[in-house]
Amino acid sequence: MNNLTTIFREKKLKLTPQRIAVYKYLISTKKHPSAEIIYKALQEDYPTMSLATVYKTLKTLTDVKLIQEINVGEGNFRYDANIIPHPHIKCIECSRVDDIEGISFSHLNNEIKDLTDYNIIGNKVYFYGICKSCQDKLSSH
Ligand SMILES: [Zn+2]
Ligand SMILES: [Zn+2]
Repeated sequence: MNNLTTIFREKKLKLTPQRIAVYKYLISTKKHPSAEIIYKALQEDYPTMSLATVYKTLKTLTDVKLIQEINVGEGNFRYDANIIPHPHIKCIECSRVDDIEGISFSHLNNEIKDLTDYNIIGNKVYFYGICKSCQDKLSSH
């Protein structure tokens, strides 16, 4: 966390309390929170920070590629401070979103390039299923 100043300087971003708070919060979680969840989580420590500010801050952090937006088929984005390309899996029961570790689909970019006339920038792969705790809940009924 002590290199936050360096990271922001490299990205030519001004270190504002809001940016630090949002970024720190995202680094601390693997839950892929939405803007609303981040807003609620920070409300106690930053009571003057509005939801609009959270959205604006998330957009700024996304633009400089400090965080990534993910869209698992909901009306809004979720956010991830892990910017290394990785697939996600969403539970269709409780809506939790997890990282899938140990596999990458980056090699598909070249295959897709061959199949289309596109210059491929990247891909985002989402899987859907039922998480362990929801499986347990469902089978206990
Ligand atoms: Zn679940
Ligand atoms: Zn992730």
